[in-house]
Amino acid sequence: MLIEVADLRRQTGNEKEFTGKIARIEIELQGALAVLSEVAVKGLAKNVGGKIYIKGNVVADANLNCSRCLEPFVIPVESSFEDAYFAQRTVDYRDLEETGRIYKGDQIDLEDVIIESLILTLPMKAICHQDCKGLCPSCGCNLNTGHCSCGPQTIDPRLTILEEYNKHIKTRE
Ligand SMILES: [Zn+2]
Ligand SMILES: [Zn+2]
Repeated sequence: MLIEVADLRRQTGNEKEFTGKIARIEIELQGALAVLSEVAVKGLAKNVGGKIYIKGNVVADANLNCSRCLEPFVIPVESSFEDAYFAQRTVDYRDLEETGRIYKGDQIDLEDVIIESLILTLPMKAICHQDCKGLCPSCGCNLNTGHCSCGPQTIDPRLTILEEYNKHIKTRE
């Protein structure tokens, strides 16, 4: 997504609002693919003297797969971003000690900053519902929608402590 900044650059204090849409962004995160759709961006770009300061907000639908039952599901996500952009030909390396990015020509490409802000909103472990029952470890049946005859698993008593420990971890997720 590109923002035209030729007129902003002319004078310190110039500012403009911007909006944009991105149909689809694919993000690979820890081996799982997250697809963001209906990405809507809005924000403000302002010439603050020597650099363009951009602040914005993104809303999107995150299309994920449940890490327990593997079924696809969609959640709304929202994030915000802000950064300073320096024109490539006017870069003063002292300025870069402040955090900032470089842009070329008369346009600033916001794609990277938008993707970075969206990644922060994605769950590390995507779960379709808090009480998702997952898949039967024996037959692979989806226990949210079906039943199987595997029954409760028999557990070696020596493993009971481990089982309790696992339960404890699960309740803290
Ligand atoms: Zn699930
Ligand atoms: Zn089963």
